[in-house]
Amino acid sequence: MELFPLPAFSDNYIWTLHNGQRALVVDPGESDGVLAWLDQRDLQLDTILITHHHADHTGGVAALREATGARVVGPAFEPMPEPLQRVSAGEHVDVLGLRFEVIEVPGHTAGHIAFYAAEAEGTPLLFCGDTLFSGGCGRLFEGTPAQMLDSLTRLAALPAATRVCCTHEYTLSNLKFAQAIEPDNSDLAAYTQHCQRQRSLNFPTLPSSIGLEKRINPFLRTAEATVVQSARNHEPATTTDAVSVFATLRTWKNNFK
Ligand SMILES: [Zn+2]
Ligand SMILES: [Zn+2]
Repeated sequence: MELFPLPAFSDNYIWTLHNGQRALVVDPGESDGVLAWLDQRDLQLDTILITHHHADHTGGVAALREATGARVVGPAFEPMPEPLQRVSAGEHVDVLGLRFEVIEVPGHTAGHIAFYAAEAEGTPLLFCGDTLFSGGCGRLFEGTPAQMLDSLTRLAALPAATRVCCTHEYTLSNLKFAQAIEPDNSDLAAYTQHCQRQRSLNFPTLPSSIGLEKRINPFLRTAEATVVQSARNHEPATTTDAVSVFATLRTWKNNFK
């Protein structure tokens, strides 16, 4: 099986997975690039997975369904281009011999879901849409800091080796913010160098892994003393409570240059 992020728009990735014959794509915001990719490799599109309703994740769904007859699976509680199979927490989706569990991750949108395969050729696989990014997390358009922190905590509890397939190449800008929070984090410094090299060669920084994110992503590190202190220095009303720290970081990041 081959996992590959197809670039789309300015910084989206449409994740693809195929077994040489049949393919899965996640959050296709557009269809032309996906159709060309399928054509070049002579693949049949089996299933489209959708994590949330934003147009840059769903814009290509209707055209792909029309052109390929692929099954579409998406969140139960989001406005979605019909027809689709709607799934929610506790359900699973079987695709290309893999079983994906549906994890509810509200915060970026109210009904956002993630897809997690515990058994995927030896290394677990997570498609998490705009919830967890490498070094950061999604903006809170429809949820509260407490909801988003809860969602991220659920993802952080997955095995360390889990491959994290995020939908945007935001890594370098996230790491710049992360370094402002934790200037002495040596894992973060090493990872930043690695990602700068990747981007200078026009390679993706993704997938990341849960183990790595727990060492470098401030939004998963709200209990670390340095992270708490940085949040409090920035916003003195911040308490040591994880939700309060998270809320300060998220607001700070919204305006960080
Ligand atoms: Zn989004
Ligand atoms: Zn997006």
